[in-house]
Amino acid sequence: MSSKPSPRCPTCRGPVAERSVNPAFPFCCARCRTIDLGEWLTESYRIPAGPDDTERDGPTTGELGQGGDDLPN
Ligand SMILES: [Zn+2]
Repeated sequence: MSSKPSPRCPTCRGPVAERSVNPAFPFCCARCRTIDLGEWLTESYRIPAGPDDTERDGPTTGELGQGGDDLPN
């Protein structure tokens, strides 16, 4: 009987229903899930460092390949 852990909602710490009857699992309801997602996104927006570096490498490599490819027929 004690082998089954009772899940708790990460947002409100309330009891969570089984996954089969709860589409918002592991949250207790869709509202709590939205709140958790909102906080996650808000924190992501606060950190403007990361994706900028990868974009810089992409176009530069492509332009280099186009310049030295000039073979006469
Ligand atoms: Zn909840």
